[in-house]
Amino acid sequence: MNFQKIFAKPPEAEASAPGRVNLLGEHTDYNDGFVLPTAIPQRTTVQLGSSTDGQDHFYSEDLDEQVSILESNRTPSGFASYIFGCIQLLQKEGHTIPSLNLHVKSTVPIGSGLSSSAALEVATLRAVRQLLNLPINDVEIAQLAQQAEIHYAGVQCGIMDQMASSLADTEHMLFLDTRTLERRVVPFPSGAEIVVIDSGVPRTLAGSGYNERRAECEEAARLLGVKALRDITDSSATEVLPEPLRRRARHVVTENNRVLEVLHQVSSQRFGELMNASHASLRDDYEVSVPALDTLVEILQKTAGVFGARLTGAGFGGACVALVGAGEGRGIASNVLEQYNQTGNTGRILVPATDF
Ligand code: ADP
Ligand code: MG
Repeated sequence: MNFQKIFAKPPEAEASAPGRVNLLGEHTDYNDGFVLPTAIPQRTTVQLGSSTDGQDHFYSEDLDEQVSILESNRTPSGFASYIFGCIQLLQKEGHTIPSLNLHVKSTVPIGSGLSSSAALEVATLRAVRQLLNLPINDVEIAQLAQQAEIHYAGVQCGIMDQMASSLADTEHMLFLDTRTLERRVVPFPSGAEIVVIDSGVPRTLAGSGYNERRAECEEAARLLGVKALRDITDSSATEVLPEPLRRRARHVVTENNRVLEVLHQVSSQRFGELMNASHASLRDDYEVSVPALDTLVEILQKTAGVFGARLTGAGFGGACVALVGAGEGRGIASNVLEQYNQTGNTGRILVPATDF
């Protein structure tokens, strides 16, 4: 149901924000390292109007769920926590926010690793900024969005998703130094586009596996006497570490170097090789892949027109991303999906977007 149907009046402001996919630089953001996401065409749209009954009302058309905030000092659960967090943080920054009616509608797949959560936060903050003419910039929006996800939704995330949703577009890659927030817009290698396919394997172990890897990286950095693994540039320096810390640290160091190489305008072939190397490193050194992701990546890598492929996101399930020849994405994706589904899995094409 649209805004008018739910709230019996038209919206006063509207804003949207995209989901994202990370092309290189996986598990580097909590090591102060480098990432290279791009925005995807799917977006989340938030419409807003002032509420006259003194309460906030949040409605998601995608979940067909409405949450009313009765007590402003208690964080709601579920999707409302992300929105509530954004509004609370704006108030803590000193902005006066009236009670709101808020409507969410999205084409970003939820829970597939394309960051529907960051798209929701950034779209919410943009819509409030627009409604009230708030003097906040896109980097501040990303930072508030990350704080909302950590402190209100309870997800320990880095800054990549929110920076990508707030600052990236679909025509470029966004190089981001997660320590300094220095960033650079990087063109795609010439003659290439991206394909993203969901493996259909839920990311069940993602939470515990992610926390374990984070702890291993912190321990590796401590043993090497650096603030974060980002401070190691030569992977041979990791050889003094005990296993499995040695391989974990080697992944982070080599992955950061792969991202940095791309800043020097590499060819599609070279970019693809770096993606393949990233997958091997995530599978063997970081151990966050699962058999279905390896199968999907292998099929992609064997397919004509594919420059390279890797799992994307935290791993343990979720999606794979590939760089393919421009104009070939749709054909390659359906051909690969057919082969992948014959292996007993049920995948889904996420990019190029087909369903809107
Ligand atoms: P993702 O990889 O998609 O970001 P997360 O688990 O981080 O996966 O975030 C998904 C959560 O974000 C959902 O469970 C829901 O609470 C919230 N969310 C995202 N998009 C929407 C939406 N359109 N409507 C309602 N809630 C949403
Ligand atoms: Mg998320």
